[in-house]
Amino acid sequence: MVGETILEINLSALKNNFDILRAKINKNTMLLAVVKAFAYGSDAVKIAQFLEELGVNYFAVAYINEGVLLRKSGIKTPILVLHPQPINFQLLIKFNLEPSLYSFNTLNAFIEVANANSKENFPVHIKFNTGLNRLGFAQKQIEDVVKIVNSNPSIHVKSVFSHLAASEDEKERDFSLNQIELFHNITEAFQSLCGYSFIRHLCNTSGVVNFPEAQFDMVRCGIGIYGFDNMKNNNHKFIPVAALKTIISQIHTIEKGQSVGYNRAFIAEHDKKIATLPIGHADGIGRHYGNGVGSVYVQGQKAPIVGNVCMDMIMIDVSEIDCNEGDEVILFDKNTTAEEFAINGDTISYELLTGISQRVKRVFITG
Ligand SMILES: *Cc1c(COP(=O)(O)O)cnc(C)c1O
Repeated sequence: MVGETILEINLSALKNNFDILRAKINKNTMLLAVVKAFAYGSDAVKIAQFLEELGVNYFAVAYINEGVLLRKSGIKTPILVLHPQPINFQLLIKFNLEPSLYSFNTLNAFIEVANANSKENFPVHIKFNTGLNRLGFAQKQIEDVVKIVNSNPSIHVKSVFSHLAASEDEKERDFSLNQIELFHNITEAFQSLCGYSFIRHLCNTSGVVNFPEAQFDMVRCGIGIYGFDNMKNNNHKFIPVAALKTIISQIHTIEKGQSVGYNRAFIAEHDKKIATLPIGHADGIGRHYGNGVGSVYVQGQKAPIVGNVCMDMIMIDVSEIDCNEGDEVILFDKNTTAEEFAINGDTISYELLTGISQRVKRVFITG
């Protein structure tokens, strides 16, 4: 019995997914685990500690404060910060985090801070844009980048990387292959100019699944570790790690013509049994799941959300379900997945998972 709203994190499932990814990649390819956004909404510290024990090679976070949190909790593995803001570079150096440098602005700003701290060979990661058009140097800037890098002993290029735009999309296969080739050419040119070798990495989870030939020296996996592979049929045996569970707070029997919730958005067409749950849009179940769009499971049966989603509560129709106040309710788990829940709300597992707010208690289980 859950007793309250919880996000249950299954560490055995996490290990299963880690092992699957490890088995998919070559022996000498490094595995970087992406633990940004509280490890995709689960718990960055717990997940990173667990993955560190499993022998993960690298971590990545999006922002510097996320990396600081990991260091403060004792994580020793190298941490790549994918989108660091120069205002926090001092903090990045202090906590031994490694920046992605993706523009002349960020490169020069970082060198200035590294010099001011009398750093030598501080590890940095140079990002190139190969088609996503989000962050990254252009291919034609290689020479200028190398010139700056080679004339500044305060930094050392530990890796050169890029990011695929549509690795999960079969229709964009040619585009992805083109990105892979461009990345290959960029790293070749970079290496011959700078004169030393570095880690090369391109693939995210669906890149690993769909382009095994593009592993280079390291892969960066997020969603796969948490149990999803973005493919239509999960035939890779990833197991969703997170389950969102709650309980029934109260059951009302309402008569035909009565309404439920704010703005009377739901009007009963006949007598109904309605259950109120202690989870709302402040917990990450957005208003777009209201009015029948989202459904939850009670006693193994599907119960649609009725009326508008409130900040702290939703109401569901349990007219056809034999249930009681205090019964467990499942929003998603490894069987009725976050991916399916998200699709109903016209979004993706990434958004649903990372949106589960910090108010929801995280509970760790194994088995
Ligand atoms: C988030 C992110 C990843 C992880 O992608 P998944 O699809 O979750 O495996 C990898 N690389 C970069 C640059 C990212 O921002």
